[in-house]
Amino acid sequence: MVKRILSAILGLLLVAVPLWANDGGCMDTIETSAGDLQISFIGHGTLMFAFDGKIIHVDPWSKLADYAKLPKADLILITHEHQDHLDLAAVELLTKPGTQMVASRPAAVHLPGSLVMQNGESKTVQGLAIEAVPAYNLVHMRSEGVPFHPKGNGNGYVVTFGGTRVLVAGDTENTPELKGLQGVDVAFLPMNLPYTMTPEMVADAALALQPKILYPYHFGETDTARILDLLAGSGIDVRIRAMQ
Ligand code: ZN
Ligand code: ZN
Repeated sequence: MVKRILSAILGLLLVAVPLWANDGGCMDTIETSAGDLQISFIGHGTLMFAFDGKIIHVDPWSKLADYAKLPKADLILITHEHQDHLDLAAVELLTKPGTQMVASRPAAVHLPGSLVMQNGESKTVQGLAIEAVPAYNLVHMRSEGVPFHPKGNGNGYVVTFGGTRVLVAGDTENTPELKGLQGVDVAFLPMNLPYTMTPEMVADAALALQPKILYPYHFGETDTARILDLLAGSGIDVRIRAMQ
């Protein structure tokens, strides 16, 4: 009897451990036609991708991680110039000979040697196809007529990893340009109020994009249960990770 209980507990542990690990907010692995894409959820608007022997950091921010201990970057993507997205100390720690940086124009001013991408531009960098998508506010304003993110200042990026298209939307709302993107497999959409989207706006964008996987990210205090409710039954795999 005791043996049976013990083996039942052991069985539970064996089943439960990978689930916990997968849900612990640390890392997800996504299969692509050219090998695995590993996504590390650093927090807030900050991500690290590992693919095909390359490391890609997105909006690294020293507040969230000790960048001296993280792998250096082959590519750094900066969405816009706000301090929680453009942190020169983190960029410096991640830079090695050959590191390339891609940034919106107002961010690139602070990053000598970076490649500027304007909204709508496409480039191939480090062998990865990158598209810059406009990231801006339609309704959420800093003061009357002044959006938190004016159109033209910020980028989201669609990066293609072995045929799998991953959108990191940056600080944006559910703009027509965002909703018009085709063939996005994995979408990171921001849900940080009052600066970006409400869960309803994220759901609207997600239903237009129809990604296989949606990661709400940069969500601050916003209740993540709401987006799960709104997209229940949509067929979109909504994954909540530690991306406050
Ligand atoms: Zn911002
Ligand atoms: Zn932000």
